[in-house]
Amino acid sequence: MHEILIISGKGGTGKTSLTAAFARLARRPIICDLDVDAPDLHLLLNPKPQQTEMFWSGREARILQENCDACGDCFQRCQFGAIKKSGQRFWVDPLRCEGCGVCKHFCPVGAIAFEQKLCGEWYRSHTDLGPMVHAQLGPAQENSGRMVTLLREQAKRLADMERFDLILSDGPPGIGCPVISSLANVTLAIVVTEPTPSGRHDLERVAELCRHFKVPAGIVVNKWDLNPAQTAKIEALAPQQKLQRFGRINFDPAFTDAMVQRQSIGAYQPRGLGKQVAALWDRILAAALKAHQPEAVR
Ligand code: SF4
Ligand code: SF4
Repeated sequence: MHEILIISGKGGTGKTSLTAAFARLARRPIICDLDVDAPDLHLLLNPKPQQTEMFWSGREARILQENCDACGDCFQRCQFGAIKKSGQRFWVDPLRCEGCGVCKHFCPVGAIAFEQKLCGEWYRSHTDLGPMVHAQLGPAQENSGRMVTLLREQAKRLADMERFDLILSDGPPGIGCPVISSLANVTLAIVVTEPTPSGRHDLERVAELCRHFKVPAGIVVNKWDLNPAQTAKIEALAPQQKLQRFGRINFDPAFTDAMVQRQSIGAYQPRGLGKQVAALWDRILAAALKAHQPEAVR
C-alpha cells in the first residue's frame, strides 16, 4: 500500500485543490484530510458521513460546586489562569485548562473532577471518488497531532480491510506537530510551493523535515508563471535539498472557479489545466511506485 501526502510550507499554496484533483485521477484511493486544524477538502469532495465517532483526548478539570469549600487553593496554584473566581465561587475556564492536574492533586476536599476531554469528531465518509477519512476539531482544541495519528490509523485499517492500495492525504501546512504526525513512514511527500522568497524559505524547512524522517519528497511549483525567476531558483534548490522536481502548474483562475463550484480542477477543466495536473499525477505515481520498491530493485 502506498501513502502519498501533499504538504506545503504554509497555507494557501493550493495543496487542497491539488489533492482533490489527484483524488479524481487516482485509481481507488482512500482520501484522508489530515489538515485537521483547518479542514476544507470536504468542501470540494462533498463527503456523506457513514460513520461518526467522538474524539477524546487529554483531560480537563471541573470543580464540583457541591463539594467545594471555596478555599481558593486551586486558584492560587493554576499556572495557566484557568481557575476563575466570581465572588466566593470558583470555576474552570475549559478554554484555558491545560489538563496538568495540579488543582485536582492539591484540592483538600477532592472537589475537582478530572475527566477526558471531548476534542471533536472524526468521520468515515463516502465520496464519488472513494472513501474519505476526515475530522472536525472543536474550537481552540490543540490535539491536532493525535487526531492526525488517529485518522492515519483509521485510513490504514480501512485500506487493509477493503484492499485499497493507495491512501492520498491532504496534509497540514507548516512544520509543526500535525505535519510530523502526518509524515512518518509515508511513501512519498509532495511539497506544493509558490514562486516567492517566502515560498522558497518554507520549502527549505519542509525539505529538512522530510530528510529527517527519511521520506522521499518532491516539489510542485504552483502558479509558477507569476514569477519565473523565483521558480527557477526554487527548482535549482531541489538537488541539494534532495527533492525531486515533479513539475509546475500555471496560474489559472480556473482553479479558484473550480473551488467556488465545489469541483476538482480535473472535473471542471478536463483539458488545459486539468491535463497539466494529470501529467503531474503520472509522474508522482511513478515516483511513489519507485519509492515503494526495495532498494535493490530501484
Ligand atoms: S481547591 Fe478545591 S475546595 Fe479549594 S476552591 Fe478549589 S475546588 Fe474548591
Ligand atoms: S488542570 Fe491544570 S490547567 Fe487545568 S485548571 Fe487545573 S491546574 Fe489549571
